[in-house]
Amino acid sequence: MRLSKGFFPTVKEVPSDAVIPSHQLMIRAGLMRQLAAGIFSFLPIGYSVMKKVMQIIREEMDAIGGQEFHLPALNPIELWEETDRVKAFGDIMFHIKNRAMVLAPTHEEVITNIAKDHVKTYKVMPQIWYQIQTKFRNEPRPKSGVLRGRQFTMKDSYSMDATWQGLDKSYDLHAEAYKKIYTRCGLSFHIVGASSGAMGGSGSQEFMVESNAGEDNLAVCTETGYAANVEIATSLVPNAERFSTNDALQDVHTPMCKSIDEVASFLNLPTTRCAKSLIFMNDKQPVLVLMLGNDQLNETKLQTVFGQDIRPAQADELPQLTGADAGSIGPVGLESNFTIVADKRLENANGLVCGANKNDYHLLNLDLQRDVSINSYHDFRMVEEGEPTPDGKGTLRIVKGIEVGHIFKLGTKYSSAMKANFLDEQGKENPLIMGSYGIGVERIVACHIEQHHDEYGIQWQKGIAPYDVHLICVNMNSDVVKKKSEELYAELTAKGISVLFDDRTDASAGFKFKDADLLGMPLQVIVGEKNLKNNEIELKERNSGKRWNASVENIINEVVNFVKS
Ligand code: ATP
Ligand code: MG
Repeated sequence: MRLSKGFFPTVKEVPSDAVIPSHQLMIRAGLMRQLAAGIFSFLPIGYSVMKKVMQIIREEMDAIGGQEFHLPALNPIELWEETDRVKAFGDIMFHIKNRAMVLAPTHEEVITNIAKDHVKTYKVMPQIWYQIQTKFRNEPRPKSGVLRGRQFTMKDSYSMDATWQGLDKSYDLHAEAYKKIYTRCGLSFHIVGASSGAMGGSGSQEFMVESNAGEDNLAVCTETGYAANVEIATSLVPNAERFSTNDALQDVHTPMCKSIDEVASFLNLPTTRCAKSLIFMNDKQPVLVLMLGNDQLNETKLQTVFGQDIRPAQADELPQLTGADAGSIGPVGLESNFTIVADKRLENANGLVCGANKNDYHLLNLDLQRDVSINSYHDFRMVEEGEPTPDGKGTLRIVKGIEVGHIFKLGTKYSSAMKANFLDEQGKENPLIMGSYGIGVERIVACHIEQHHDEYGIQWQKGIAPYDVHLICVNMNSDVVKKKSEELYAELTAKGISVLFDDRTDASAGFKFKDADLLGMPLQVIVGEKNLKNNEIELKERNSGKRWNASVENIINEVVNFVKS
């Protein structure tokens, strides 16, 4: 492709709402333009990367026996009512005004609707069905460019199995295919255990790309390979002690001590001798959660125990419920009205300090076996940077991550709701056992740029670069330079190398170099007068910035070797 003829609208300025590198660079390098919030037009160079990503996905999905479908985005609303997901998606789902139709945010319903009529016996399973298609989600705050669009491209696939072991196998096949896909797309990633959330089902993992542009927080450890969303991450931290001496509960006046740090320093005790009480309302039932010292409560873990609707009690509800304000609340004496639970680190501890349910007073010598009855102990803790991994063999880092893919064991949630049944080997009718697996195509492109760029522009890795080589004719007004550049363009193209040829007559050399770095092809071939006089042509690897010269006789080989290696 000749730059003089093609559409390559590179720009210097980016809109102020483009704050993350991939968003800025996709605009500056002319990959895409925003049409409206969360809606993007992909321009030729951007779409060529998308197509490469989709091709990699297709190859790896086909390799695990996937069969490609193309399903409609426009869906009758009744289909979504069968699974109660009109309600579950709420405002995220786009509704069509003049028809009882919605724009599909995902495709479990359409797939199950087809499977219901045709996958009726164990004999035809397993099946893996996939598509690469546009999805619509009315994301409340679309930001970060194509990372969170209202219209985006997803590879979604679905497995149907007759047994739970079969589901495990289909799931594992997807996990393996996903690893290959992200690796071929030049991404380094973590696989994290995830909470299955509103999708239901028994197991799920997210594929996360480490990046400051991410919205998720992950606990990861490179040495041990541990990786988990902080929502569910655990670490190996010691429990509170149980002392052999056990003194009686004792009131202590703690004026102006609200925080754990203030109480601990006033009493001259370590914070790990303090039990912090947090009050929640589970519908009408008050719940007291005890945490050790300054440990942060992980609300996702709390919801796993009590359900989604549990909420923190408001400040003005506290005195009536406990007799004190936040900072002086404790479990002693609240058993009759409260559900009292505690973090596992506090299991059977004693010698603790807690609020006395009287403002500015605390209790010393709290013994969780003797003085309160704890309904149950759970892991409620938010892990922290620097803590040991659960196996104790490594150290956790907390990093930001972008979800590029998600695999779920759905089980029978959708097949049961839609009565998609099959006959098993015994001739018994059962709901199909399903899995659902998604990859965001634009997200892969943006994540690639997040992980591969510098201050000058994009650094495409070979697998998905829009062109193999950026050929720069430094001066089209010099006959020798022009002639050699044209020859190289023709020869490399004939060898099957894809070349972006900067043959502009009106652009300065400096301008061309800047564009080449911005556009980011892996190899630059620079044809200039000075080098040609010495029978040489300059090469520059975009990734490393390494420059070297090749002789005119050797240049084709050199380029071919670079591209194919
Ligand atoms: P998120 O938590 O980021 O909203 P999700 O859990 O809603 O993602 P899934 O429903 O599992 O995502 O969709 C599968 C994949 O589709 C995601 O892993 C992601 O790569 C991509 N994806 C989801 N929502 C968007 C979006 N709004 N824009 C671009 N890609 C998206
Ligand atoms: Mg979402």
